[in-house]
Amino acid sequence: MRYQSTRGQAPLLGFRDVTLAGLASDGGLYVPEAWPQFSADDIAAMADLSYVETAVRVMLPFVGEDLSEAELRELCAQAYGRFAHAAVTPLTQLDHRNWLLELFHGPTLAFKDVALQLLGLLFEKFLTGSTTPLTIVGATSGDTGSAAIDAVAGRHGVDIFMLHPKGRVSEVQRRQMTTVLAPNVHNIAIEGSFDDAQAMVKAMFNDAAFSGRFQLSAVNSINWARLMAQIVYYFYAAVRLGAPGRKVSFAVPTGNFGDVFAGYAAARMGLPVERLIVATNVNDILHRALSTGDYSAGTVTPTAAPSMDIQVSSNFERLLFDVGGRDGAALAEQMRGFETSKAMRLTNAQLTGAARYFASDRVDAADMSQAMRWAADSGEVIDPHTAIGLAAARRADVTGQVVTLATAHAAKFGTAVERATGSRPILPPRLDDLFDREERYATLPATFEAVTGYIAGRAQPKG
Ligand SMILES: *Cc1c(COP(=O)(O)O)cnc(C)c1O
Repeated sequence: MRYQSTRGQAPLLGFRDVTLAGLASDGGLYVPEAWPQFSADDIAAMADLSYVETAVRVMLPFVGEDLSEAELRELCAQAYGRFAHAAVTPLTQLDHRNWLLELFHGPTLAFKDVALQLLGLLFEKFLTGSTTPLTIVGATSGDTGSAAIDAVAGRHGVDIFMLHPKGRVSEVQRRQMTTVLAPNVHNIAIEGSFDDAQAMVKAMFNDAAFSGRFQLSAVNSINWARLMAQIVYYFYAAVRLGAPGRKVSFAVPTGNFGDVFAGYAAARMGLPVERLIVATNVNDILHRALSTGDYSAGTVTPTAAPSMDIQVSSNFERLLFDVGGRDGAALAEQMRGFETSKAMRLTNAQLTGAARYFASDRVDAADMSQAMRWAADSGEVIDPHTAIGLAAARRADVTGQVVTLATAHAAKFGTAVERATGSRPILPPRLDDLFDREERYATLPATFEAVTGYIAGRAQPKG
């Protein structure tokens, strides 16, 4: 298995190098050269498998020669052994048609753990024996940061610098990052938005002088290995609801388009999916793009679902590449146009290609709260992100079962949940001293100079 860049200029890489690199050197994102194919028989044979065994089946074709099956199994067993539920990602029934896929049983209570616990172990495995330390830089709208920090804290040969928009993540989210005091963990509060932070991370990779001094890597969902790990739970859930005999739909609370792109990958690999429902909040660039072809960024409106408060959705480029004929040169030009004007039109091929898989919806604050109350009536306390997915699921025009991805534990967003439902969810016992722990982080202006200066003073340069 080899990986190619969406912008067509970077070298083809194997799995190990793609994992360590994150972003491609031409500014594009890596995608597999071809999608592995699973037949109906292959899918039927997953019916009785554990999560870890499902993960091995689904991911083995992607890792090529860089991991043996036994090594992959060992890493999955270790990563998913840290989850607080024996099913790892259990399904919960809401009514005759709606289900929740609970992705929040990992150490930091958000679905990001599913991918990042594995990614942390992959970094360690691939860096064994290497003398060059890895400098991970990332931007987070909340959940990526804590999940990435948990996955690499204290690991040898890795430093992590995590940028979050100051004052725009929940207090639980901030404390989950800033109370990790391991010396290789560096939290930076940026005086700006998530998009500012994400743009700065991209600029660091593209700045030859800066990126040449360090072995930079990314943990944002621009890293292919993260998306790969997320494909697994689409198979795991669909098989439990009757795949390959029945088609299910998935409603996905979407920000950076990583999670739902993994669902698209599952569909391309042969999983029968009726529809992938892209649910956005009022920051609705993806809904506009998929419904009208207008991909134009406005300004970010802060909402109760901060992990979806973005206007530029990095992984959307992967979809545009795959459904638009895999023309790297054309896409590079389209993306350069977007980077200058913050607006572009999808081509007809992109729009019709996406329409074969996706539906989309925009959910406002009132509909979000209503979905939280509806779930509470069935005894399920859900977080604001999940509620946006569920609101879209309930009004989607589909015929089969619908699985809403429950992307965070309700207690991560206790204030918003209390406002909607009248009762405050409690943190699981493993986090109940979070508010007593010491915090450590730097606050910096949202300028490239300030942030790169800070990192350069603390990261280990190439040997
Ligand atoms: C990250 C996140 C999302 C958005 O996922 P993307 O892969 O960026 O689309 C949704 N909900 C929660 C709770 C998240 O942490």
